[in-house]
Amino acid sequence: MPVRIEHHRIEHQGVEGLRVGRVLTQLTSSCILYRLGTTIIDTGPPNQWRTVRRFLMERDVARVVVTHHHEDHSGNLARAHHDLGSPVYSPPASVAPITAGFALKPYQRLIWGKPRRVEPQPIPDDLDLGSGQSLRAIPAPGHSDDMTCYLEPDRGFLFTGDLYIASKTRYLRADEDLQQQIASLRRVLELDFKTVFCSHRGVLESGRAALHKKLDFLVGLCERVHHLRDEGRNVREITRMLVGKEGLMALLTGFHFSKHNLISACYASVSPEDGVSPEDGIPPKDGVAPEAGVAPGRRTGP
Ligand SMILES: [Zn+2]
Repeated sequence: MPVRIEHHRIEHQGVEGLRVGRVLTQLTSSCILYRLGTTIIDTGPPNQWRTVRRFLMERDVARVVVTHHHEDHSGNLARAHHDLGSPVYSPPASVAPITAGFALKPYQRLIWGKPRRVEPQPIPDDLDLGSGQSLRAIPAPGHSDDMTCYLEPDRGFLFTGDLYIASKTRYLRADEDLQQQIASLRRVLELDFKTVFCSHRGVLESGRAALHKKLDFLVGLCERVHHLRDEGRNVREITRMLVGKEGLMALLTGFHFSKHNLISACYASVSPEDGVSPEDGIPPKDGVAPEAGVAPGRRTGP
């Protein structure tokens, strides 16, 4: 299986980025860590520590924060703390998995490696960066329960972790909550920001338009799925019709990432079988729950 190592630097309006990681056939698995002044946001996967270490050592680093616990984001947090002495922070909901460790699937170990453990400090709602700068923590669950964006309000920078990744997606992780993602995109779009710093896609100068595009795509996909569901089609049929057969991504990840997961999540979002009525807060036609907490459970099987 062809594997290559990728790392390069990014610079945008004083924010520096370092892309690190392996690229495994079509599964692009590199991740970007960003530096805003003396603050590092995300740390790259554990098997990229040598590159990350050099980057951190060559810079004045006052603190390291992560957007969520996934190994390609928090992977070097422990080493930044233990080897370099950096104060480390995470969203409050990330503290437990980063401190105690979390289960990894074989493909995750292969591509990113296993993070060491560390107990980060829970990040305050507004983190003072000194020199009048601050970072505001914006919870944005869906991709993971603890996914958090960081807003630099003066310059309109939004560090989105894995909220965006791409405007059109054909896959969903088995543990992602699509309706929460939609609700998070809506909530984040109410903020005043311009530039998005995505952990995988890189810098998006038209960040607001990009996040809108993703929101519109997901809402539209749910509508298309509901339309076909109302015609009597099942998840398997709709998956084939709208996104095609499963490909290498599903096979490589043991179906942790799959097209089926995505269509299932759309299909189940306002299913009458879930017993959720419009009075519970979910409109029957447009199929998108207004708030994360009211979405019915997502099915993982057809
Ligand atoms: Zn992630």
